[in-house]
Amino acid sequence: MTDLSERLAAVVGAGNVTVGDAIAEDDTHDEALNMDPVVPLAVVRPADTAEVAAVLAIADETGTPVTARGMGTGMSGACRPREDGVVVAFDRMNRILEIDTANHTATVQPGVTLAELDAATAAEGLVYPVFPGENSASLGGNVATNAGGMRAVKYGVTRHNVLGIEAVLATGETIRSGGKYVKASSGYDLTQLVIGSEGTLALVTEATLRLRPRHPHVATVLAPFATLDQVTHAVPKVVTAGLDPLMLEYIDLLTMAAATAYVGLELGLPQEIKDTALAYLLVVLESPRADRLDQDVEATAELLGELGAMDVFVLPAAAGAQLVDAREKAFWVAKAGNADEIIDTVVPRASIPEFLAAVSTLATDTGSWIAGCGHAGDGNVHLAIFQPDVEVRDEVLHRLFEMGMELGGAISGEHGLGKQKAHHFIALEDPAKLALMRRIKGAFDPHGILNPGTIYD
Ligand SMILES: Cc1cc2nc3c(=O)[nH]c(=O)nc-3n(C[C@H](O)[C@H](O)[C@H](O)COP(=O)(O)OP(=O)(O)OC[C@H]3O[C@@H](n4cnc5c(N)ncnc54)[C@H](O)[C@@H]3O)c2cc1C
Repeated sequence: MTDLSERLAAVVGAGNVTVGDAIAEDDTHDEALNMDPVVPLAVVRPADTAEVAAVLAIADETGTPVTARGMGTGMSGACRPREDGVVVAFDRMNRILEIDTANHTATVQPGVTLAELDAATAAEGLVYPVFPGENSASLGGNVATNAGGMRAVKYGVTRHNVLGIEAVLATGETIRSGGKYVKASSGYDLTQLVIGSEGTLALVTEATLRLRPRHPHVATVLAPFATLDQVTHAVPKVVTAGLDPLMLEYIDLLTMAAATAYVGLELGLPQEIKDTALAYLLVVLESPRADRLDQDVEATAELLGELGAMDVFVLPAAAGAQLVDAREKAFWVAKAGNADEIIDTVVPRASIPEFLAAVSTLATDTGSWIAGCGHAGDGNVHLAIFQPDVEVRDEVLHRLFEMGMELGGAISGEHGLGKQKAHHFIALEDPAKLALMRRIKGAFDPHGILNPGTIYD
């Protein structure tokens, strides 16, 4: 053990520090494609906030980079370690501290997974409504990436559902911000600054989350369309109709075929539809009452017919759940199909048709193959890029991000910039904003020890 690891062991206990060959392979990477694993100097597993604070104080004093790690399901290399740094893994801080049924909040440590929280809230008839596609992800990771997911069209993303945090600054100071209330006009909102900061401003040691009633009645409606353009044009009209869908997803032909095959789902659609539909709109509705749900399903089906759907299918409950599952597995499908990159650019939802038309032209011009699906209700387009040439691929990504930003969007809607997209962000973002962000970073983390290489290259 080095001096550093001995000092860390004195804080968290020798059994909770790993170095060298003892470091688990899992701790050396996340799920980003094309990023090699990196073995850090040490991985520490603190048990509580005081230990996190003591670890950060040592790192700050010694100038050691620190990368926080939740469950490593991130898709942008944000928790990928540095070889001259230390990983702070939160899997021991995994307690649900409270489910408050009067205030409709849950207070959790950062290592609690979405699956664990969902089981605990279900028992109370409540739900934490942010469902990014991977339920093994941690709440700490969700807060740090501002995770989104399919239900954002109705409930918003992580930042709309986190009411307060406890966090440790790089210096080892601990702050609390926000609490069990939905409104506050009392100084800068530090909770919102930390959310989405990808471990570069502070380490989150506790989060207070907003809970909603869990609706028992859910229906899945699937509408095939002759063109992708028709699907994307239908989206704003479904929203305007006030049906308040829980999910509103577009799935292109290739992704639909590959994702359903991946989970072994046969939807029983007529062959004629399978042969001619180029894109699908998936609409999931929920309601506290069965009769109200039936009315909404009927109205949705009628509307989709008017908007040009080739047919409208109300799926049996099991098939509906399986289709949602298949859509959530689109990442594994793309990975299994050897996709070279996966991106999640967001544009204003009414600009999706224009964005996808530009994507199609770019794919042809660069000899790339680009397929996808996306959270159509919130303009978040997930694209799998197949382009083996590294330089051409980097240029394709740059153009895609630039096109998204020109339409008023952003490089990433939910996966974050991490270490993978940082250089595109630096190249494309307004220099005045970047300079301000760096000053904010300096105020939280004066010696720049928190997750260097993420967001800023
Ligand atoms: C199949 C699949 C589907 C997915 N679908 C979605 C989706 O629909 N929507 C979506 O948003 N994401 C999705 N993701 C991405 C991923 O699940 C999210 O980014 C998730 O929030 C990461 O959580 P994690 O615990 O794995 O964090 P990690 O990957 O471990 O870390 C992510 C970031 O959070 C930081 N971090 C972790 N814990 C803390 C902490 N306590 N304090 C400060 N910083 C911290 C890390 O340093 C890193 O910057 C998907 C991933 C997979 C594999």
